[in-house]
Amino acid sequence: MIIDGKKISAEIKNELKEEVAALKEKGVRICLAVIQVGEDKASSVYVANKKKACAYIGIDSLSYELPTSTTQEELLSLISELNARADVNGILVQLPLPKSIDEDAVIRAIAPEKDVDGFHPVNVGRLNIGQDGYVSCTPAGVIQLLKRSGIEIEGKECVVVGRSNIVGKPMAALLLRENATVTVCHSRTKRLAEVTKRADILVVAIGKPLFITKEYVKEGAVVIDVGIHRDENNRLCGDVDYEQVAPVASAITPVPGGVGPMTIAMLMENCVKSGRL
Ligand code: NDP
Repeated sequence: MIIDGKKISAEIKNELKEEVAALKEKGVRICLAVIQVGEDKASSVYVANKKKACAYIGIDSLSYELPTSTTQEELLSLISELNARADVNGILVQLPLPKSIDEDAVIRAIAPEKDVDGFHPVNVGRLNIGQDGYVSCTPAGVIQLLKRSGIEIEGKECVVVGRSNIVGKPMAALLLRENATVTVCHSRTKRLAEVTKRADILVVAIGKPLFITKEYVKEGAVVIDVGIHRDENNRLCGDVDYEQVAPVASAITPVPGGVGPMTIAMLMENCVKSGRL
């Protein structure tokens, strides 16, 4: 089975669109403030896509495009202003920020109840102690891909390769919350292939193109590829060697069209959630 992230993400966005329309009828409007500092090209594309998704679903968006010269103080002051505004439900600061700005300080400045990226330590803590809060969008999207493809998580051996704060660690916490048995691997893991071969569900977020070949995968495993890269021919590829692994896997996400489209869908879900609270 090829897990179709485009289709599942469209499904979620359409459900949210209906919900936003119903909320509007009750007089509730949802508004996301998007802040970009500098002119990083990839960031501009991500920001444009987020605003487009907001428009499709019916979420209002406020856009702040600040110059690279913006100081940390100026950015913190804007965040504090947005934290105080009752008409703003979600605040998103597009990362990476220019080197002169401390990203952690910026993330901590966003009110946890408006932190739709789920990066604030309070939301990270909530996830880890089993409380409701905002969850990082990419791993939340992986859970939706599995559930909506009818793949059971409970009791499964899940191996996550990668332990970043935005993907690997929240991914492991979410799988644990779904009652899987979870192993997390990283660059110091010994005999990686032996560990990954135990996985019924293998989630790969390493950031190395085509790293996971068939030797890393158990026959019949579900393989989720979070990685995204451009190969030498400028074509998109993941951390998993799809051609090699697809015949071994029982289900697999392609790149593009797998995990990628889910990140924005889950950001929209977090924005709508802010209107439900
Ligand atoms: P990071 O670079 O922050 O983390 C990579 C992780 O992989 C680290 O924990 C690192 O271990 C581990 N790692 C690196 N090399 C190896 C190795 N040889 N063996 C085992 N583990 C290894 O990356 P991110 O988590 O931010 O992103 C991972 C990938 O996912 C990237 O390709 C990124 O572009 C993509 N991505 C895609 C998104 C989407 O929407 N589809 C969203 C976010 C990311 P250690 O901690 O020991 O250094």
